[in-house]
Amino acid sequence: MTGNTQPSQPILRPREAFKAPETDIAGLTPFAAASYFFDQAAERLELSEAVASVLRTPYREIRVQLPLLRDDNNTFLNFTGYRVHHNGARGPYKGGIRYHPEANEDEVRALAALMSWKTALVDIPFGGAKGGINCDPFQLTSGELRRLTRDFTRKIRPIIGPYRDIPAPDVGTNAQIMAWMMDEYGRSAGHSPGVVTGKPVDLGGSLGRNEATGRGVSVITKLACEDAGVRLKGARIVIQGFGNVGSFAAKFLHDMGAKIIAVSDVRGGILDSTGLDIAALQEHVADTGSVVEFIGSQEINNEDLLITSCDILIPAALGEVIRAHNVEAIDAKVVVEAANHPITPKADAILSERGVLVVPDILANAGGVTCSYFEWTQNIQQFRWSLERVREELDRTMIKAYEDVRVMAAKESVNQRLAAFMIAVERVSRASRLRSYGE
Ligand code: NAD
Repeated sequence: MTGNTQPSQPILRPREAFKAPETDIAGLTPFAAASYFFDQAAERLELSEAVASVLRTPYREIRVQLPLLRDDNNTFLNFTGYRVHHNGARGPYKGGIRYHPEANEDEVRALAALMSWKTALVDIPFGGAKGGINCDPFQLTSGELRRLTRDFTRKIRPIIGPYRDIPAPDVGTNAQIMAWMMDEYGRSAGHSPGVVTGKPVDLGGSLGRNEATGRGVSVITKLACEDAGVRLKGARIVIQGFGNVGSFAAKFLHDMGAKIIAVSDVRGGILDSTGLDIAALQEHVADTGSVVEFIGSQEINNEDLLITSCDILIPAALGEVIRAHNVEAIDAKVVVEAANHPITPKADAILSERGVLVVPDILANAGGVTCSYFEWTQNIQQFRWSLERVREELDRTMIKAYEDVRVMAAKESVNQRLAAFMIAVERVSRASRLRSYGE
C-alpha cells in the first residue's frame, strides 16, 4: 500500500453516510452500490479514510479500442474493451470477462471490487479484477468473436499472466473464448495454461468447473437453512435463471431432497407447486433452449416468480432484480444471492429488518472462483485432480467460508453480508499493511 496509511487523525466517514440510501437504483451506479457495502465494513473495522480510499478504488484500469472488420470484408464495428484491477495485495488479480452490449467501465469496476472481497472471503490467494467488451456476442460469427478476442488479448497482454492477472469466463463468454485467449497469450509467452481459467478440459480446464458455482450455492443453501430453521428436505425453492449457475444449483438441491417449485429464464418462468422434475427439465431445456412450456407446469412471468411464496429464493440471473418496488412482496425465509448483486442496498436493508436471512453474493456464488483457483493450481503443477477431489475441496472451502461468516455475524451482531464484507476487507487490508509498513 502506498501513501500515508498511518492515520494522523481518525478520519471516519460520518455515520449518516452508512444509512440505507434514500435512492433505490436511481442515482446509485453499480460501483456506488458495491462501495456502499464496503463502506459499512470499513466503518465497523475503523479503517482510516486513507486506507479505506485505497481499498475502495481500483489499482489500475485499462480501456482499449477494438475495431473489427466483419466477415463480409466491408463492415467495420468499433468496440471498447475494459480490464480493471481492483486490488492485488493477496495475489494475482482474478476475475471474469463479460461480452455484453451494456458492459461499461462503472459496472466492470464494481464487479472487480466484488472479486477482491470474494477471493479474500473464501481465502484463496488472488486479488480482484474484471473485464468486458461492449459487444453482443450473439450477433457475431465465430470467426468475428475469435478475432475480437485475440485483438483484446493482445491489447491487455502487458497486464495479464499466470502470476499477474488471470481472466475467466463470465456473462457472454465461455470456455472456447478462454481457449483463444490462452493461445494468443502463448504466442509470445510460450505455453501458459495458467493465464486463464474456465478453459476446455482438453486444454487444462478443471473437472467440475462447469458445476462449481451451482454446487457451491447448494452447499451454502444447506448451511443457511440450518441457521434459518428451514428443513431443506421438502423445502420449496424458487430459482430465477436456469443457466449455468441456476441449473446446477437446482440439480444439487433437488438431489438433497428440496422441492424446486419454480424456475425461469429470459423467455419466462414455470411453476409446479408439487416440485419440478429437474432431470426431465434439463432434457427439455437441451431440446428447446428454454424452460418454458415444460410439460405439467404452469406459466409464470419473471416478476411474479420473484414474489412467489417459498422457503428459499435464489436469484441466479441478473443484477438488481430485488429492489424497492418488489421487496415488500418477497415471500421467502432465505434469499441466496447466486447472481452478482441481485439485491439493491435499499432492498437489502428492508429484507434484513424483516428478518429474512440473505446470503450475500460474495459468499453464495464463490464456488466458481474457488474452482478456478483449483484449475490454476493444477495448471502450474501440471497435474490433474479427479472430480471427487475437486468436489471435496470445493465443499470444504465453502463450508469454512460459511462458518467464518456465521462466527463473525454472531460476534458482531451483524447480518451475513456485513460479516462477510468485514472478514474480506480485514484480510485485504491486513495483506496491504504487511506489504507496506507491517502490522
Ligand atoms: P448464464 O448465461 O449461463 O445463465 C443466465 C440465466 O439467466 C439464463 O437462464 C438466462 O436465460 C437467464 N436470464 C437472462 N436474462 C433474464 C431475465 N431478464 N429474466 C430472467 N432470466 C434471465 O449465466 P450464469 O453463468 O448462470 O450466471 C448467472 C449469474 O451468476 C450472473 O449474475 C453471473 O455474474 C453470476 N455468477 C456466475 C458464475 C459462474 O461461474 N457462471 C460465478 C459467479 C457468479
